Amino acid sequence: MEGLAINGGKPIRDDFLVFSAPKIYDAEINELIQTLKSGWIGTGPKVKRFEEEFASYKGVNHALALNSCTAGLSLGLSILNIGPGDEVITTPMTFAATANVIVHQGAKPVFVDIEEDTHNIDPEKIKAAITEKTKAIMPVHIAGHSCQMDHIMEIANNHNLFVIEDCAHAVETEFKGKKAGVIGDLGVFSFYPNKNMTTGEGGMLITNNEDLIDKARIQSLHGMDKDAWKRFSASGFKPYDIVYPGYKYNMTDIQASLGLHQLKRVENNLLIRDKIYKQFNQAFSNIEEIEIPQEKGEIRHARHLYRILIKPEKLNCNRNEFIQILQKENIGSGIHYPALHTSIYYKKQFNYQEGMFPITEKVGENTISLPLSPYMNEKDVNDTIIAVEKVIRNLRK
Ligand SMILES: *Cc1c(COP(=O)(O)O)cnc(C)c1O
Repeated sequence: MEGLAINGGKPIRDDFLVFSAPKIYDAEINELIQTLKSGWIGTGPKVKRFEEEFASYKGVNHALALNSCTAGLSLGLSILNIGPGDEVITTPMTFAATANVIVHQGAKPVFVDIEEDTHNIDPEKIKAAITEKTKAIMPVHIAGHSCQMDHIMEIANNHNLFVIEDCAHAVETEFKGKKAGVIGDLGVFSFYPNKNMTTGEGGMLITNNEDLIDKARIQSLHGMDKDAWKRFSASGFKPYDIVYPGYKYNMTDIQASLGLHQLKRVENNLLIRDKIYKQFNQAFSNIEEIEIPQEKGEIRHARHLYRILIKPEKLNCNRNEFIQILQKENIGSGIHYPALHTSIYYKKQFNYQEGMFPITEKVGENTISLPLSPYMNEKDVNDTIIAVEKVIRNLRK
């Protein structure tokens, strides 16, 4: 048996496979150069075009480009008037930003456990957590697998709750033919470097509700009642007024220059992501020491992350050691996510404890995200498979 690289053996590959590296093509670079030379590098015509093209892609009436998904989630809560005394139900199996923004608004994040199969928020547990203070539900379509949105919308409608979809993993996601982000009141997307499309940093808020988008547009830029780029356009100078103590969440034309071309590539990239995802599923389906991701319901999966769960009782290592051993084989990987309710702040501030959400905790301790990107070649995919098999062969009990 070939020895592990961590014990002095030969690594599976010579160069390190980065977990998820973005790719910027000439189209983006040329657009960017043109923007830089145009004299308009702030929020301007390219942001407007990017919003229109993203709205058209999602089949939604309104889109507002922002400087991050975190900004969009925060803005979403603000335009829905969610604040002190209110509760927002969300999942502890997410990136910290999802819950942090609830705290920023002065509201309380109420976590409920996830489904064992999809790792998405469990609708039945949402129902049980509703109080007279509950104002909204923030589901996260984890890894690109849609939440059970029919259940969630039914609960929201019965209890008069808003739904803000965290679509950071879900640009291409659908549930029963409906596009993620258009099912709830608001959908918010991330264009962070490792997401399915990137603008360096960036986000997008979408909705069919005209009142909400008007509020969002105003609050996202200082609370000014007119867009800055319109004020200085050829149509002449218009004075502005401040109607709200707004935020500074706008996207720039520099970012939109990337987004316009990244969006054009997202559907074709999904075909490649899908192919790699299925290769992984096939290669790992018979390995007893790990669980592969499961799918449920009539969904379209965005294939954002490929997450395996190791079964520590069948291996002579824990998850963190597994990641370190893989790294020595020159395969990068990630953790999505440690259980958020067991982090120092949420335990201290809201009295969350270990043991409260056992499915989230099991996933949080055992999940590993393998490299998954449309820019991986066949060798990258094979090396990843061979490396996982090698680690398991060496460490199975
Ligand atoms: C990446 C991510 C965010 C934050 O996105 P930013 O654009 O970096 O602010 C929020 N929620 C989830 C689930 C994410 O993965």
